[in-house]
Amino acid sequence: MTGFAGAAEDDDDDWGDKPTEACGVFGVYAPGQPVAHLTYDGLYALQHRGQESAGMAVSDGDFITVDKDMGLVTNVFNDYKLAALPGYLAIGHTRYSTTGSSTYRAAQPVHRSAGRSDSPSTFALAHNGNLTNTEALAADAMMLPGMIASDSELIAELVVQAFPAHARNDERELEMTLEAVAPRLHGAFSLVVMDEAHLIGLRDPNGFRPLCLGRLESGWVLASETPALDVVGAHFVREVEPGEMVVIDASGVRSHHPFPSERLDPRLCLFEFVYFARPDSLLYGREVHGARQRMGEHLADQAPVDADLVMGVPETALPAAEGYARRSGIPYGQGLIKNRYIGRTFISPHQSQRDRGVRRKLNPLKENIAGKRVVVVDDSIVRGTTSRAIVRMLREAGAAEVHFRVMSPPYRWPCFYGMDTGTRAELLAANMTVGEIQDYLGVDTLAYLTIDNLQAAVGAPGAGFCSACLTGEYPVEVPVTLHKGVLEGNDMPAPDLV
Ligand code: SF4
Repeated sequence: MTGFAGAAEDDDDDWGDKPTEACGVFGVYAPGQPVAHLTYDGLYALQHRGQESAGMAVSDGDFITVDKDMGLVTNVFNDYKLAALPGYLAIGHTRYSTTGSSTYRAAQPVHRSAGRSDSPSTFALAHNGNLTNTEALAADAMMLPGMIASDSELIAELVVQAFPAHARNDERELEMTLEAVAPRLHGAFSLVVMDEAHLIGLRDPNGFRPLCLGRLESGWVLASETPALDVVGAHFVREVEPGEMVVIDASGVRSHHPFPSERLDPRLCLFEFVYFARPDSLLYGREVHGARQRMGEHLADQAPVDADLVMGVPETALPAAEGYARRSGIPYGQGLIKNRYIGRTFISPHQSQRDRGVRRKLNPLKENIAGKRVVVVDDSIVRGTTSRAIVRMLREAGAAEVHFRVMSPPYRWPCFYGMDTGTRAELLAANMTVGEIQDYLGVDTLAYLTIDNLQAAVGAPGAGFCSACLTGEYPVEVPVTLHKGVLEGNDMPAPDLV
């Protein structure tokens, strides 16, 4: 799916002021196990990657049953529904819309019939990421605006069109069709796909979005992030490699590499480490929590300041604030309390209402803050509205000085690989200097982590990353006409690159 407003472990980042993750995917092949319940648990662990809709497809070997709806995993499923989904193979999805609107029609998994009309095969597909050649593919597939709701549906349509029209009594038809379709796809896609008897995972040749493989005692699991393996009792085997397709069935796991070697260029999203992924996730073999602590340590070296208290903006920035405090010797403490139970709020056009939205979620600890020179660590500044409201709150609570430290470089370019960023006009750092942002936020000092220090903090020497939103260097070409409503014929402005 195509999106920027982020959600990391913030399950409700809807102030329109953070990058928004574009979906979580999960798949399980486990004969004899309650796969619908395992998928529920896996999706629950991936809830931070999408809160607009949730769904799963389950196969009992003869039929695939799909259940999906708008809302959180806990809203969409209950014990009765899960009990009505028997089977041994399942995929699941949590969605944030990055291509297409937030509607039931665009909820996943996508379920399709293909092949012979008198005896069709069926398959289901779930997608994390965002295709960049959507328009060209839609034209090739003769899909007019409005005929499909998302780039994920477009992938399914391409599979349908490429599926053999005549039965070949070949159990591997889906696998072979997907292998043929995959090279036509450009951009970001971590997919889980299934027919009645096979579970398939496919990762784009840049590996923008994560996808990992886990082992159950009697089965296999695919998931966007490793905590979804942990929760179902699977142990981490390895990441699905960029450009790899893994097929899981009764004979075990086999691997294909459907992309030409010149397209293989690992570029894991750097923002997965900063903001999107859970702190207990393993990416490139590193735990995200430790990387965030090191970001804070590097910030302390790079932008020291005399202060009385270091605090983080909950939840993502807390490890970085700990790191800053440890390295600087300034005491670490809590300055903001997050309401754990807040649900979705709505983006308001009025500053006063936006402030109230932030206050609904965060409240200052006045005794900790009053009279203190405070270092505030946050993960990113996107539109700046949330950061500004937080600073105002801290000033009202009596902070003597506010020094803002950001765990990432200025966010200046839109993302086309699975985050919802809007246009450059909406990105604060694309339109203001750091000095102007400092004045806009009303802070005493402001510093961003440099790209070199961010990569050093992640600590995966030689590993490839995407940092396009921070550097403007896009690893995969982006058509200038690409925007979120491209498949619906909506007349949205394309996020310009200049
Ligand atoms: S542009 Fe690249 S680094 Fe930035 S959010 Fe998108 S995928 Fe991640």
